[in-house]
Amino acid sequence: MTKLTLSATQHNLNTNHFSPAVLEIIDTLQQHHYEAYIVGGAVRDSLLNIRPKDFDVATNATPEQIVRLFKRSKIIGRRFKIVHIYKRKDVIEVTTFRGSHTRKQLKRTQTDEGLLLSDNNYGSLEEDAQRRDFSANALYYNPSTNKIIDYCGGFDAIQHKTLAIIGDPETRFREDPVRMLRAVRLQAKLPMQIDNNTYQKILTLQPLLQQVPPARLFDEILKLIMNGYSHPSFLALNETNLLNELLPAAAHHFNNSSVTQALYTQALINSDKRVANHQPITPSFLLAVFLWPEVQYKLGQLVQQNQHMPAQDALSHAMHFTIEEQHATSSIPKRFQSMIREIWQLQSRLTRQHQHTKKAKTLLTHPRFRAAYDFLLLRESSGESDSNIAPWWTSFQATHADILAAAKQERAQLNQQRAKNRARRNRKR
Ligand code: ATP
Ligand code: MG
Repeated sequence: MTKLTLSATQHNLNTNHFSPAVLEIIDTLQQHHYEAYIVGGAVRDSLLNIRPKDFDVATNATPEQIVRLFKRSKIIGRRFKIVHIYKRKDVIEVTTFRGSHTRKQLKRTQTDEGLLLSDNNYGSLEEDAQRRDFSANALYYNPSTNKIIDYCGGFDAIQHKTLAIIGDPETRFREDPVRMLRAVRLQAKLPMQIDNNTYQKILTLQPLLQQVPPARLFDEILKLIMNGYSHPSFLALNETNLLNELLPAAAHHFNNSSVTQALYTQALINSDKRVANHQPITPSFLLAVFLWPEVQYKLGQLVQQNQHMPAQDALSHAMHFTIEEQHATSSIPKRFQSMIREIWQLQSRLTRQHQHTKKAKTLLTHPRFRAAYDFLLLRESSGESDSNIAPWWTSFQATHADILAAAKQERAQLNQQRAKNRARRNRKR
């Protein structure tokens, strides 16, 4: 590979975005005679004049050497060891230069399909560059010389707004199929296009995602739906058939029902707007939306098979089977599952209880009332539900704003107390 070293006048990088925390970390590492660079998304985004969302550092110090230098740091990951350094409010990810594998090592760490089970071989800066995913992500910025080192043509790729995988696309996707999801996510968030060669390979290799552990896939789903670009990401996932591997039921309903299409589209657009306005979003809400049509489908089947089954039982079964099926591809952690179930369960209570003022008032104090009401609004405005009750709840909330405020305060106090108890328990340990 040819090495390019770009000076400040050549790269014109906007360094204003770099956090003092990352610069201090690099400085500490360099003072201890290690090589250290800012790499990955932060360099790429700054060259595109976008504020980076986080910072990654690459160094020739090993994870053990890094944690010795920084008090608030820990090693995480097994397949790929990373050090997290906590500085001020930031968490900086520091990785040791990855090396290439010898043939003998590959035999031990690679499955027959080409999947790399472990990637903790250390190497030189040049080798590290080759192990990264896209050329635009393999640029190394040294704050003390103000130079960028480019081994893979990443600077040129950014000028041409191209996302190109480093090396042979098929080999690199087989090593780690999650790179296909990363390509789609980065294309959705950046003014960059996946190059044709890389894109064509995604279209044929998408079933490789089945080899990725469900927990890692769920983490990737979170990144895809929480990044503020969930709508373009979702469309690109569907176009490449990757959606089928991640959320098979959602892919099926989205492609077969215009009502589901409207429901998802509105939910995704709303969610992206909230991120843009710095409003909080919870992954459970979008997951509840994605799986809702399947719950309804299963509910319909159950009722048809057993007309005497009480409605609540039928719903419980439908929810259970839908979540179980989803677990075959990407497992939804328990902490998200309960909120998803509550949003679903509250739908029938919202549509039934509005005539009874007393019951309706109780419902206002439910911790998931707001999410369930937003869900109902979405269902009505997309045409998924014709109950037309959401407007009643809108005015009911306005009249009883005091009840909502009191319930909110009570929950805040409860959370505070829980946090205190947790802190006390941790101190005792
Ligand atoms: P974001 O803006 O989402 O943080 P990013 O490119 O910085 O984008 P990270 O997950 O923070 O994404 O990863 C940091 C860097 O590590 C990437 O830029 C890339 O160089 C490398 N990297 C991450 N995941 C992989 C992977 N699966 N295979 C190879 N390299 C990877
Ligand atoms: Mg990053």
